[in-house]
Amino acid sequence: MKKHFSFRLLLVLFFVFFVSHSKSLSVDKATAQLIDQYTQKISPEIIKIRRFIHMNPELSNREYQTAKLVSSKLMSLGLEVKTGVAKTGVVALLHGSQKGLTVGIRADMDALPIQELTDVPFKSLNPGVMHACGHDIHTSIVLGTAMVLNALKEKIRGSVKFIFQPAEEGSPPGEEGGAGLMIEEGVLEEPSVGAIFGLHVWPEDLGKALFSAGSIMASSDWFEITIIGKSSHGARPHEGVDSITLASNVIVSLQNIISRTLDPTDPAVLSIGKIEGGTKANIVAEKVYLEGTVRTLSETSRDKIPKLMENIIKGITRSFGGDYIFNYRYGSPAVYNHPELAKIMLPTLIKVLGKENIKDLKPQMVAEDFAFYCQKIPGFFFFLGVKDPILETMAPLHSPYFNPDERSIALGIKIFCHLLLDCLQRQSYFEDTPP
Ligand SMILES: [Zn+2]
Ligand SMILES: [Zn+2]
Repeated sequence: MKKHFSFRLLLVLFFVFFVSHSKSLSVDKATAQLIDQYTQKISPEIIKIRRFIHMNPELSNREYQTAKLVSSKLMSLGLEVKTGVAKTGVVALLHGSQKGLTVGIRADMDALPIQELTDVPFKSLNPGVMHACGHDIHTSIVLGTAMVLNALKEKIRGSVKFIFQPAEEGSPPGEEGGAGLMIEEGVLEEPSVGAIFGLHVWPEDLGKALFSAGSIMASSDWFEITIIGKSSHGARPHEGVDSITLASNVIVSLQNIISRTLDPTDPAVLSIGKIEGGTKANIVAEKVYLEGTVRTLSETSRDKIPKLMENIIKGITRSFGGDYIFNYRYGSPAVYNHPELAKIMLPTLIKVLGKENIKDLKPQMVAEDFAFYCQKIPGFFFFLGVKDPILETMAPLHSPYFNPDERSIALGIKIFCHLLLDCLQRQSYFEDTPP
């Protein structure tokens, strides 16, 4: 029989009535030992898989070989596997021995258009394409989690949905893709997913994780502005409308939105990253083209900014006889760690890594399309350290020198196994003990 109660409500109720029992709701010692044993056992295979994926990186919406490798491994485990979801996505369902609710776990599979400059022996064989954001590590961790949990399915009450998503870095121009399209194609339905887990590698020491409840990564929107003036001789500006002067005023005034109209405790960024205009030193420019990005942590600021931008652009250009074209496109929302889910699951992260190894995460203004899942259901997203602690620094994400420590894979598998099992165990506990 299909259950229709809301997982969100379930979590809130659970927390209110049973938080004091939370200690007893984590996997037992024997299961924890089995997680360690199986993780150790599959590690050599998973490292091989990771290196293969790293050597054969594929760009967004082109993750054909990666998806093939992932789906064939999942099929060999006997899971229910769907391919071609949101173009190259793979979704697999693992049923525990007892019926229960479903939790989800997501990995992204795409690489970046970067020429790898590391000297690892498993360097990219695909010129100009590299796993410089660690999605090869994410894919390997989630695949490894499927392997370990499959070996433990006798102990699982409920189901786990493994989501391997394409195009996290953005679809090629003119194409749809990524988390939004996965959701449109029903990834959170049949069976419906109650909560979703995800991680991103981070240049922090191995063994450490960064986490906080609420918005942890920003929304990411794109805009373009064309300022339209009128050309004239550079020595006779009164006969034209100078689009460069108008654009300069617009650029400076747009920053007033951030500093003067938004709540200063609610961070937002507006950056213009591209400007083009004019033809020659002694000609008043007819047009200036600007392109930029807006990042916010709250929907309140996100709603406000485009309207304020248009007011400023319109006011300045029209005041001096000019005109404008303004296009604003909404991208990913903010990544939101659901506070109730965070309260219930953070103890698991602490249990696996130790309290001293969980760092409070300051919200980052970069974006992650995991946010789309968090808009629909409670999500839990954290950053996993992948820097060899012996090293002083490591190359950042998206660098051609990015080289995460592979020991993070086994640790990631262990964390996810505990998070998913603890989460399912808590749901089962709630079902057994109605308020
Ligand atoms: Zn990235
Ligand atoms: Zn990434």
